[in-house]
Amino acid sequence: MTGKVVLVGAGPGDAGLITVKGLKILQQADVVLYDRLIPLALLDELRADAERIDVGKMPTKHRVAQEDINRLLIEHARQGKLVVRLKGGDPFVFGRGGEEALACHAAGIRFEVVPGVSSAIAVPAYAGVPVTHRQVASAFTVFTGHADPNTTDSDIDYAALASAARLGTLVLLMGVNNLPHIAARLQAEGIAGDTPAICIEWGTTPQQRTVEGTLATLSALVIEAGIGTPALTVIGAVVNLRGMGLDWLT
Ligand code: SAH
Repeated sequence: MTGKVVLVGAGPGDAGLITVKGLKILQQADVVLYDRLIPLALLDELRADAERIDVGKMPTKHRVAQEDINRLLIEHARQGKLVVRLKGGDPFVFGRGGEEALACHAAGIRFEVVPGVSSAIAVPAYAGVPVTHRQVASAFTVFTGHADPNTTDSDIDYAALASAARLGTLVLLMGVNNLPHIAARLQAEGIAGDTPAICIEWGTTPQQRTVEGTLATLSALVIEAGIGTPALTVIGAVVNLRGMGLDWLT
């Protein structure tokens, strides 16, 4: 009989933030393919005889690695195994989970999705920043900063982001390296330089660090502090709420 692939969201870093359903499936898995950013303590939950495959460490290029991952998922499922694909945060938030699910569908392999707690919401929460708040932000927009806005690699509509910022919060993932360019571009599109902004590194983990400033000042502060991956940036008036008593970790 053919097995099944389950895409499981591991949560943003704190091992307690996996879902009950995700944990149960993890404990039953025959094979687990996991990413670099999952809480490693979750691997203690696996059956002693479960096969572990660290796909975060593949030496090949991103594009090729993704095809290899798809192939491994399908091969193991064809052997009748329960295959768990454990991904940081939520599998469908910049996690390429959709591509893996489509590859399974194309190969005739059954798959399920167990959503996860996304860093986009949980990491700000652990830093005392609610992504929406009554009368402060009535929407939030999550976007990727993996491409420099000044290059043709970027397909982000920064004018649209500036409009979204009038309504609510911006949450920038994968944007530490390009933060100076992105912050400059957002200001050029009309977002005020004094808009509150915060960068959070290793959010929800004991290593969590935050750097707070404004859209105009944050990128220099982030470089000065030596913030690296994983980190995300929140831009908007909700950032001020941490100073009003929402910063529950301190
Ligand atoms: N699927 C994931 C996101 C994958 S993209 C999710 O839903 O959370 C990877 C990016 O997520 C990182 O570059 C960083 O911007 C953000 N990220 C993930 N974990 C994080 C953490 N613990 N702290 C800060 N940012 C994090």
